[in-house]
Amino acid sequence: MICCPQCRAKGEDVYLQEIWAGDLIEFQQDQDGRIDPEGVLIQKGDPVKVQGVCCRCLHRWTLRGVFQIINLPGHPDHGKYRR
Ligand SMILES: [Zn+2]
Repeated sequence: MICCPQCRAKGEDVYLQEIWAGDLIEFQQDQDGRIDPEGVLIQKGDPVKVQGVCCRCLHRWTLRGVFQIINLPGHPDHGKYRR
């Protein structure tokens, strides 16, 4: 179970947020390292991190080594998929 590292609250007092990168612009470079100034807008980025938020003390923290909510043992699909 994920507990607040500051006040030790747990269970329903702590909720989890999966953070995704927003839109991004991708640029290609050629074999000489010249970067094409015309970027391509990518609508959806990658999952970046999962953070905990404590309702009791309002502390917010990043969970180490976790990129998606499914990486947490408390998730029903934990261990089903490997990235
Ligand atoms: Zn707390």
